[in-house]
Amino acid sequence: MIRFLIHFSILIAILIAFVRCNNGGTDPVDPPIPEVPEQNINDNVTPNDFLSDVKYKQLIIEAVYLDGQQPDSLSIYKLVSFLDERIHKPKGIQLFYKPIPKTGKTSYSLDDLKTIEASYREKLTNDTLLTAWIFITNGDYAGNSADEKKLGLAYGASSFALFKKTIQEYSGGENQPTTHNMETTVLKHEFGHLFGLVNNGTPMINNHLDSTHGSNHCSNPRCLMYYVAETNNFSSTFSTSSTPALRSDCIEDLRNNGGK
Ligand SMILES: [Zn+2]
Ligand SMILES: [Zn+2]
Repeated sequence: MIRFLIHFSILIAILIAFVRCNNGGTDPVDPPIPEVPEQNINDNVTPNDFLSDVKYKQLIIEAVYLDGQQPDSLSIYKLVSFLDERIHKPKGIQLFYKPIPKTGKTSYSLDDLKTIEASYREKLTNDTLLTAWIFITNGDYAGNSADEKKLGLAYGASSFALFKKTIQEYSGGENQPTTHNMETTVLKHEFGHLFGLVNNGTPMINNHLDSTHGSNHCSNPRCLMYYVAETNNFSSTFSTSSTPALRSDCIEDLRNNGGK
């Protein structure tokens, strides 16, 4: 009951917007394909904007998926609970998710992700509204290497993608995490990057930057921000039965930059 009241009182509203196209029986018309934007959308948003309530009292998240491939609603719910534990948004966190037309792609380059965002992102940050964008793709990342496949990618100050095909390929089997646990972990990890972790807009109190495995990851192999959380090597480090949490160094950094 207490847990229920807590969740109720934090004014989280997860609004599901099912937008269906009705074209009156005519053939669907593809939207015009825009140029790849030169700059990421809302690139001036800072980690402090997400973490503190100094500039913004509320966060609006727009999560899109390809028509017919609804995201795991429990993962989305757990993401919003995680955000509420870490950021100050007294007017709440609202998440809208909606389908977009199928793209026909099985892999997505960074330019593809930016172009799709430019085509479909409706909620933009301005002086009074803070927004984030999640694209839940049905494909792989085109930049994958033979050794490492990405499960998610934060590519802008307020934008990230989830590679659902890769997540499904490396979860749900014997000695693998459940698809739900893996998807939940990737959603939280990518938001960790939007929060400026590690040493990418949110300064480090203690040095916990992993210098051996790419950039902006935590050196603690038990932490949500350890690099394997967004790769197919996920189960080489993490338990298959639970989702990794942020550890003390990452939490201290967030608190020092306006978070909880
Ligand atoms: Zn990462
Ligand atoms: Zn950490």
